[in-house]
Amino acid sequence: MDEIIKQIKDPELLSQIERVVPFHGYLAAGAFIGIQMFNIAKRVLGFQDGERIYVTCETYNCIPDAFQVLAGATIGNNGMRINDTGKMAVVVNKQVPMGVTSTRGIRISLDPVKTKRYPKLHAWYMNTEKVPHEEVVPELLKAGDGVYSHEIIDIVIPVKPVKCVKMCEGCGESFVSHGDEVLCGTCTDA
Ligand SMILES: [Zn+2]
Repeated sequence: MDEIIKQIKDPELLSQIERVVPFHGYLAAGAFIGIQMFNIAKRVLGFQDGERIYVTCETYNCIPDAFQVLAGATIGNNGMRINDTGKMAVVVNKQVPMGVTSTRGIRISLDPVKTKRYPKLHAWYMNTEKVPHEEVVPELLKAGDGVYSHEIIDIVIPVKPVKCVKMCEGCGESFVSHGDEVLCGTCTDA
């Protein structure tokens, strides 16, 4: 993989890879796809490095890590949500001023019609054969934005619920409640 990375000339892309790899562990094809999706979102929505964005990933696999590192949109700061439909797709929007309830965002997906032109990438994507990441990443590099589709969509900004802390009547531990429940999630499921 180091040999592949060495051939990348774009300093911006290189610096992104250098930041994502230690966080994710290695340059997985999915992490690289996350980087490419981030760059498409950045270009189309026109945000700067360090600007607050909100991301919904449609898979837990790899892609969230690129956005967590490059955009600082993390699970812990509520910048990252996972809506696991098992799709290699993300929805991204910029932060809106307080009180604004909707905005425009972008949904980007890895398009299986477009990946067909890259046999190794397509086989990896469709899981029809075991393709090592070392063979997928070069095809992603070659393809660039050409294997993605994106559309501008309307996004409803969720209203932040009032935080209400209760003591669970079952276990006695405190928990954040969103309604009139008296038991925590653990005791409700038990
Ligand atoms: Zn409890």
